[in-house]
Amino acid sequence: MAHAPKNAPPIIVIGAGIAGLCTALAAAPRPVLLLARGSAGNDGATPLAQGGIAAALGAGDTPAQHAHDTLIAGAGSNDREAVAVLTQQAPAAIAWLQRQGVAFDRDGDALSLHLEGGHGHARIAHAGGDRSGQHIAHALAVAAQRAAHIQLQSGCDVDALLLRDGRVIGVRARDGNGHAQHIAASAVVLATGGIGALFACSSNPPSADGAGLALGLRAGAAGRDLEFVQFHPTALAPNGEAAGPLPLVSEAVRGAGARLCDGNGQPVMAGVDPRGDLAPRDIVARRVWQVHHSGASTWLDARCIGEGWPQQFPTVFAACRAQGIDPRHDPIPVLPAAHFHMGGLATDLLGRTRVPGLYAVGEVACNGVHGSNRLASNSLLEGVVFGRRLGAWLAENNPSPAATGALQTLALGPTLDAAGWQRLRELLWQHLGPVRSGSGLDTALAVIAHDPTLAASWPGELARTLLGAARQREHSIGAHFRSDDAQVARRR
Ligand SMILES: Cc1cc2nc3c(=O)[nH]c(=O)nc-3n(C[C@H](O)[C@H](O)[C@H](O)COP(=O)(O)OP(=O)(O)OC[C@H]3O[C@@H](n4cnc5c(N)ncnc54)[C@H](O)[C@@H]3O)c2cc1C
Repeated sequence: MAHAPKNAPPIIVIGAGIAGLCTALAAAPRPVLLLARGSAGNDGATPLAQGGIAAALGAGDTPAQHAHDTLIAGAGSNDREAVAVLTQQAPAAIAWLQRQGVAFDRDGDALSLHLEGGHGHARIAHAGGDRSGQHIAHALAVAAQRAAHIQLQSGCDVDALLLRDGRVIGVRARDGNGHAQHIAASAVVLATGGIGALFACSSNPPSADGAGLALGLRAGAAGRDLEFVQFHPTALAPNGEAAGPLPLVSEAVRGAGARLCDGNGQPVMAGVDPRGDLAPRDIVARRVWQVHHSGASTWLDARCIGEGWPQQFPTVFAACRAQGIDPRHDPIPVLPAAHFHMGGLATDLLGRTRVPGLYAVGEVACNGVHGSNRLASNSLLEGVVFGRRLGAWLAENNPSPAATGALQTLALGPTLDAAGWQRLRELLWQHLGPVRSGSGLDTALAVIAHDPTLAASWPGELARTLLGAARQREHSIGAHFRSDDAQVARRR
């Protein structure tokens, strides 16, 4: 290990989801200060993950086949080197998680592996059935609490990056009372998750508001593939209304025979795709979105599962019951929901942004591994593989040299009140959702420009950047669908 100067400040990791926790653990023995809004183990999207984590561990499966499936899902727009790293290091990532205390479900001596849409082999390891994220997050949080080199600080919101001579040298963090503190760092790692909470319909927690992405962009990091957002087709939406983070009705329910229908019981996927209800996520999401925007509702009729519901899908069953829906007897009202951001802060395969001293990992980062559409169960894996790589690199490399120039505080700036957030979320849902068009994107940009509150706020500025990226990519690819794609082609 390169020798760290005595009294060197800690590495600051912002975010206590899977990416931040793995980075912090792998950075040993360098001191790490891990800052997060919530408490490690219960924070961010990680504990919400149901399906599990992908790795080529089964008989006859190989990393090359996992890579093949990842590239097909990503419409070939993935970074091939990143995909090779992800899939080759996946089996070692699972073994490492086990050493950190994650107890994956087993079939006798071997790990129990599931098949999921888009995967050519059964390669999804899970823990606690459909509570994989919760189990993994809890085990990593316990490991971090025990690790002598990690100091955890919850309840704090980072709202500025500190720079000297163009190098990130620390952060400004606010506690629950709004008191600000400047904290020096030898390196700052953004592990702040995705942007789902910027949309009216979302499966993401409120913390996925894009603050880390906005901070990185403000500090001069490049954005990459910012328009690539994955929408889940079936979020539980009582009364067809979106309000806050929506629970997911997993694709496995359709795999078990459930059908998407309109209010008259007619199948909505008929004639849309030969694979019907089991078509890829983006195709089904677009169809449900179109039905919703025609003023009708979509229902998932899963009554065929009958009395097996509580055993087969305990999490979804509980979510339905909490809304007064009994899926054994009633169809489930569904809407699509913003689910995962493939784009983010551009990094290399070690998590380095172009700004010295600033790193990004997990959903906030983009090294191109997911291309334009993420393969299911590859994002927890991304957090472990690239978090471990970044942590190990930081452990091996000297902290930043002392900088002497004037201190620059690059702050997020004004945020929005509840009404402003609601306006912005509706706007992005309408125009940056599963179906986009040049005119719709222009409308959204104009609405922000003419709304002084939105225009002056950091979420408004971030929204403008995302809309601008979607405006620039005129052709549909993966999860990015432009309804005016044919017109664009004709104009040329
Ligand atoms: C409902 C649901 C189900 C999913 N199922 C799966 C699945 O089965 N398999 C799979 O691979 N993926 C799944 N995903 C995706 C996966 O869970 C996420 O991509 C992944 O957990 C992201 O991890 P992360 O560490 O990057 O971010 P997160 O886990 O979201 O953590 C972000 C952290 O950053 C902190 N933070 C953010 N901003 C700030 C700030 N300004 N200051 C301080 N702290 C901040 C938050 O408090 C939090 O601690 C699912 C996602 C959802 C929402």
